[in-house]
Amino acid sequence: MSPAQGAAQQIDDVYVKLFTRGKPGKVEIGAPDSDPVARIIETINASILRYVGATLRDAELAQLLQPDRVLVRTIPPAGIEALTIWIAPRHVVALNRGLALFVYRLARAFAAHVIDRTPADPPAPPESRTAGIIATLLDWMASPVRAPLVDDWPTGSREIRTAENFATAAERFVLAHEVGHILHKHLIADSAKVDLSQASLPELDRRPVDQEIEADVSGTFISIESMQHEGIDPRAAVTGIYFFFRALQLGELVGAIEVDEAHRPAQERLAICDHVIGERYGSHAPVFRQWAHSTDELLERLAREALAERDRRRTVATARIEEVLSTTTWSTGPRDIVRDTALLKEMQSLMSHSPSAVIEALAASLLDADTYKQLLEGARSAEALEQDDRWRRHQIAHFITRYAPEPVKQALGVHFPIIGGQE
Ligand SMILES: [Zn+2]
Repeated sequence: MSPAQGAAQQIDDVYVKLFTRGKPGKVEIGAPDSDPVARIIETINASILRYVGATLRDAELAQLLQPDRVLVRTIPPAGIEALTIWIAPRHVVALNRGLALFVYRLARAFAAHVIDRTPADPPAPPESRTAGIIATLLDWMASPVRAPLVDDWPTGSREIRTAENFATAAERFVLAHEVGHILHKHLIADSAKVDLSQASLPELDRRPVDQEIEADVSGTFISIESMQHEGIDPRAAVTGIYFFFRALQLGELVGAIEVDEAHRPAQERLAICDHVIGERYGSHAPVFRQWAHSTDELLERLAREALAERDRRRTVATARIEEVLSTTTWSTGPRDIVRDTALLKEMQSLMSHSPSAVIEALAASLLDADTYKQLLEGARSAEALEQDDRWRRHQIAHFITRYAPEPVKQALGVHFPIIGGQE
């Protein structure tokens, strides 16, 4: 194994331990050579470190912020946005892949309304359609999966470019915030000093609120000035900061992102960053904020509509899946393929519209292995089992889960072949 491979393995081991908490399980840790999100983040990281390297006076810090001493990873969806830990001899910044995907897909939906259109271009889609897409993204974030399991929908190349600009400017702020923690020598968890099978991510990311504010303040000007350093318009950087906080705010509203003593609500943090822009850039500040203000208004409107649409769909889907779970019969004998296929199709369509309602209902119906075994052992006959509500609900939920996307199975903690012994 080469030294670089050895270091990569060492880093991945730390995260796998953290996520599996000592139990066996599958965890995908994204590195720049295997994950496009990690690759993009690495590019931004390099750009930030170049800028910081060019402006730093402190030799000790300059050593710490050498490009090979700040590495990036993506981690499975968790309640945090990003986490920096010290895995000697380097800092490793891990980004929540679910949130990063949400930011990107939100930008993709939003971009259709932002690009300048000439008379030769097709018109922008109706806002209600975009709000519908955002509603789906949000509901995936609200579900136990905490990541938007939505395929990219077809869109123009300019929309894609614009979306990438929004998303990368937003991620730049996230990274600049993390680099801010390193620059200020804030409290950073040392992987060698914590019990990785016991620690939780929010615990490892815990530090005084002052340090979080300081990182937001530094993150604001690092992201603006590292972009300027590369000749990119500062208005784009400010737009990225606003966009990130709006996305984070939506994540908070649906419960995908946790707010605590140190991690204040996105709205509060944005107000602080905005204040920093005013203080630091003085008479330039109104120009710097120009693009951000115009897109922010549109995003707020779309978000409001999307949240209402999400609630409407969830109400309908919750009622329907409850109806299915309480009225569908299940036989211990041969399967009725036609009926089962129709049931599955309907549930898949329901899941694509309102995943949180479906996944929560499945979670509530699936029995653990022990309970299931007891149920089988306690049943007097096949008929008695078929009459047992818990068994019947479990069978239906199990059947739907079996054909659900892999991340849904993981979120439900279901492995196939599974409990119940049926393959
Ligand atoms: Zn922080």
